[in-house]
Amino acid sequence: KAAGRGRVTVFDEEMLSDKRYRRLVERELRAAIYLGELELHYQPIVGTEGSIDALEGLIRWRHPVRGLISPAEFIPIAERSTLIDMIGEWVFKRACADIGHFPGQRISINVSGEQLKRDEIVTMCDRILRETGRSASGFIIEITETVATAATPEILRRLEALRGLGFHIALDDFGTGHCGFNYLKTLPIDSVKIDRSYIRSLAHDQVAQIFVSALAQIARIQDITIVAEGVETAEEFALARTAGCSRFQGYFFGKPAPRDKTSVLCAADGQP
Ligand code: C2E
Ligand code: CA
Ligand code: CA
Ligand code: CA
Repeated sequence: KAAGRGRVTVFDEEMLSDKRYRRLVERELRAAIYLGELELHYQPIVGTEGSIDALEGLIRWRHPVRGLISPAEFIPIAERSTLIDMIGEWVFKRACADIGHFPGQRISINVSGEQLKRDEIVTMCDRILRETGRSASGFIIEITETVATAATPEILRRLEALRGLGFHIALDDFGTGHCGFNYLKTLPIDSVKIDRSYIRSLAHDQVAQIFVSALAQIARIQDITIVAEGVETAEEFALARTAGCSRFQGYFFGKPAPRDKTSVLCAADGQP
C-alpha cells in the first residue's frame, strides 16, 4: 500500500485503468466539491531575509473514510475530464476568499495544463476576480515546465491574456522536463521555480550548482525571479542563496498548513 516515502496510495492505481472504477472516483470527487471536503493549504515562499513573499495554495481532499488525500493522487484523475476545471475554479475562489486573511501577501496557485487547453481559464479567472473584487496582482499562476515546453500558440495566448489581467506567471518544477534556457526568453513568465531535486543536489553535485547559478544569471538579465523549491535544511538555504536564488520555499521555512494555522506563521514573522 505504501508507495514511496511516507506516501500511502488511496486509490488503486491498477484499478484506475478500469473505466468503471475511475467513474466512481470521479463521482466521489465531484461530490467532494459540493460537500466541502476540499481544502486549500498554504505554504510560505520567503525572501532572502526570511520574510514572507507569497503563499502557495496546495489542495487536499479530506475524505470522510479515506482520510486526507494528496493532490498527487486525485489531480491526475481530475485531469482526465473537465472535473479539473471545476477544481481549478474552486481553488481560485478559495484563494480569493482567503487572501483577505493574509494582508499584504500574494497567493500562488497551481493551474493544470489541461485547464490551459480551454479558453474558459481566462474567462473564469476574470469573472471570479470581478465577483470577489480581488485584484489579479495579488496572485501568481504556477504552470509546470511540461506545459510550457508543449505550449501551443493557443496556450501562449491564454498565458498572455492572464498576464494581461495582471496575474504573475511562474514556471514550476524547472529542471524536471527538457526546458532549455531559451524558454526564459520566449515564455511570458515572471518567475521560475527550481525543482527540489536540484536543491537536494546542491551540496554534493557541482553540475547542479553550475546549473542553478547559470539559471540565476540569465534570469537576472530577463528580470525573472528564481525560487528554490523544497528547501529542507539551513545548508540547502545557504547553497541556494549562494547560487543566486532570491525566493525560497520548503519545510525549513514552513510546511503547507490550513489557512488559520498559516496566518499564525505570518504573524510570527512580524508581518501584519
Ligand atoms: P508542486 O506544485 O511542485 O508543489 C510542491 C510540492 O512539494 C507540494 O506537495 C509540497 O507540499 C511539497 N513540498 C514543499 N516543501 C517541501 C520540502 O521541503 N520537501 C519535500 N519533500 N516536499 C516539499 P503536494 O502538496 O503534495 O502537491 C503535489 C503536487 O500536486 C503539486 O506539486 C502540484 O503539482 C499539484 N497540486 C497541488 N495543489 C494543486 C492545485 O490546487 N491544482 C493543481 N492543478 N495541482 C495542484
Ligand atoms: Ca507549484
Ligand atoms: Ca514544484
Ligand atoms: Ca511538482
